[in-house]
Amino acid sequence: SGTLYVVATPIGNLQDITLRALDVLKAVDVVAAEDTRHTSGLLSHFAIQKKLLAVHEHNERKAGEQLIQRLQAGESVALVSDAGTPGISDPGAVLVSMAHEVGIKVVPVPGASAVIAALSAAGIVRPGFHFHGFLPASGGQRRAVLQGLEEARVTVVFYEAPHRVVASIADMATVFGGERMLTIARELTKTFETIHSLPLADAGDWLAADANRQRGEFVLLLEPAVAQDDGLLDAESEKVLRLLLAELP
Ligand code: SAM
Repeated sequence: SGTLYVVATPIGNLQDITLRALDVLKAVDVVAAEDTRHTSGLLSHFAIQKKLLAVHEHNERKAGEQLIQRLQAGESVALVSDAGTPGISDPGAVLVSMAHEVGIKVVPVPGASAVIAALSAAGIVRPGFHFHGFLPASGGQRRAVLQGLEEARVTVVFYEAPHRVVASIADMATVFGGERMLTIARELTKTFETIHSLPLADAGDWLAADANRQRGEFVLLLEPAVAQDDGLLDAESEKVLRLLLAELP
């Protein structure tokens, strides 16, 4: 049977397509795309002509069955989403799991993903992160989800839409307190790329100071609380403590 390639595409700057992604997109029989119009724009930019099939969150299983048949008949398929890495807050996981179930080879072709780009440029020294993705649209549900993340000991990464970024950050300040540090990573790899870290207490004013700061695509990175006298220790201190305890008679 054929191979299912899971192909990352740019999150803004088209130069971020990888050489391998271009080779794979040129070579496959079919490109399975979240939005065929969007992807045909990308392919034509790179002078690639290819048969496109739609696989989006509303038809992933049904379209998946057709793609599995093609794969079983020996065709190769490249799965792409509108931007970044498929399966990361994007469709893809259903088709990929269907392929694994019937023994079809799945090959990742890695590249851009907003979560990794944001983390790489945020300069958050403490190790580890939890990728949350999108928060619920409704305020009540959003605050409940945030409360569930209050004890997180690692950076929590969110994706957010421009029309909700102000409300979400206000809810974060309510739930986590104004001293907690936030990094706002906006329009990564694009003309108006902005990466700004500040305490949650100041984030509302910062966004309000310039309407442009509320536009575009956002990754929000919430730092963990600094362990002080709350009994929580960071990983390094914990390790040292364990080693010392082990020495005790
Ligand atoms: N699969 C994609 C990835 O690997 O990053 C994510 C797709 S998700 C539907 C789209 C969200 O990702 C946006 O709402 C935004 O939160 C984030 N995002 C995508 N591109 C971005 C960019 N250039 N700058 C900042 N955030 C971005």
